[in-house]
Amino acid sequence: MFKFDNSYSRLPENFYERIDPIAVKNPKLIRFNKLLAEEIGLDPIKDNNHLETIFSGNVLPKDSDPIALAYAGHQFGHFVPQLGDGRAVLLGEVSNHDGFRFDIQLKGSGPTSFSRGGDGRAPLGPVIREYIMSEAMHFLNIPTTRSLAMVATDELVSRETLLPGGVLTRIASSHIRVGTFEYFAAQGDQKNLKLLADYAINRHYSNIDESNNRYQIFLESVCDKQASLIAKWMEVGFIHGVMNTDNTSISGETIDYGPCAFMDSYHPETVFSSIDHHGRYAYGNQPNIGQWNLARLSECLLPLIDNDSNKAITIAEEILDSFGRKFEDYWFNGMCEKIGLPGSKKNNRALLQDLLKLMQKNQSDFTLTFWYLSEYIENQNCDLKKQFTSNNEIDSWLIKWEKALKQEKKTKTKIKESMLKVNPAYIPRNHQVEKAIYEALNNYDYSYMDRLTLLLEKPYDYKPENIEFMMPPENGDQNYQTFCGT
Ligand code: AMP
Ligand code: MG
Repeated sequence: MFKFDNSYSRLPENFYERIDPIAVKNPKLIRFNKLLAEEIGLDPIKDNNHLETIFSGNVLPKDSDPIALAYAGHQFGHFVPQLGDGRAVLLGEVSNHDGFRFDIQLKGSGPTSFSRGGDGRAPLGPVIREYIMSEAMHFLNIPTTRSLAMVATDELVSRETLLPGGVLTRIASSHIRVGTFEYFAAQGDQKNLKLLADYAINRHYSNIDESNNRYQIFLESVCDKQASLIAKWMEVGFIHGVMNTDNTSISGETIDYGPCAFMDSYHPETVFSSIDHHGRYAYGNQPNIGQWNLARLSECLLPLIDNDSNKAITIAEEILDSFGRKFEDYWFNGMCEKIGLPGSKKNNRALLQDLLKLMQKNQSDFTLTFWYLSEYIENQNCDLKKQFTSNNEIDSWLIKWEKALKQEKKTKTKIKESMLKVNPAYIPRNHQVEKAIYEALNNYDYSYMDRLTLLLEKPYDYKPENIEFMMPPENGDQNYQTFCGT
């Protein structure tokens, strides 16, 4: 099934611990993502009966070479010199027909030497959550790790209460994090730091040539990927929730779906994570934190950028300074597309900001407002104005907006079409994700989860019969909380 070629496990042993997954009792396959299996080039699966043994870690596929990866990281601003895969093992890497390489990782596969007292297991609830969220992000065209399979086990996992256990199979273009660089940098291990940088360049930024300034270009490239990624999060109202440096991928994929959530009512200070007491990872703070995390990466790379540390610092600072501008450009372009206008014009940028101010004041639903705005172009009786408590302000905004649209000299239908390509009708709303998990855990009923994941594969494809999936909960989600706990 897998044609493994395990490049990471050929790196020196300081990069990982060689360790097999620990078997679980009675694994049951509750989801296998066939489309993704094809995409990553797995052999056609003929015998479905034994998939649960592989995706639980009970049976090792041929040529796998399981390792737990070493990394460090800044958690809520505090440096931890050793984190590492404490509840995951990388089975190995496969490549698809286009030559793209993917990590196949089991999450919840038992303790490793990085577990630091944790049990190495994952409750099934968070496994389902990660599956739904990561797949939804993919279909919203946002770079992300993905989910290949979910297994329920007959073992209980001890958290605040006893919970049913699960194992998720995560697919990533790699699991190299900012924290992986911090791991070697903190040890002053420049040899392995360079090896890691060269490996990461080769795997993710192979267009960078052998020139003297290759590590500078590498830093620029990672910054660019992160600026683009975070802008995309913001454009759909996604809050990662725990943007620690160990959860920041070098490839620019969204990784580690713990306490993440989508915002319903628009407010930049929205936070759902139960442990984020000061709003460090609030919706509107994500670009700042992205830049902070990249500053940690740049500190690691200084000795590679230039032998003269002053010179290296000047170069790194310039790159970090440009992050703000880059992010702003990505964000304005993406957000202005949501209102059908090019983000290059100052006037459009101002219009967008006025709308956001109004949305904040009126606690408008982020997703619905942009979706109804797309509808409004051809149907002024749609429910757009229900997102605003009074008509006055939105009416005068709409007049200015329509004037700006006219300048674009495109037909209404064309504008609407392009807006509906970037304004989803469906996002994984918190109450729906919770319902899918509740039904699965309490009634062993996966039908709601199946329906929700299927719908989220086509988030821009509005169907009147699915109106219930578009709507926020009746009483809002102000008190909604998420937890780390995968
Ligand atoms: P996270 O907050 O999910 O990014 O995880 C932070 C660190 O805690 C990582 O090193 C994880 O491997 C580790 N960790 C989280 N949960 C567990 C667990 N149940 N058992 C062992 N290690 C864990
Ligand atoms: Mg993590």
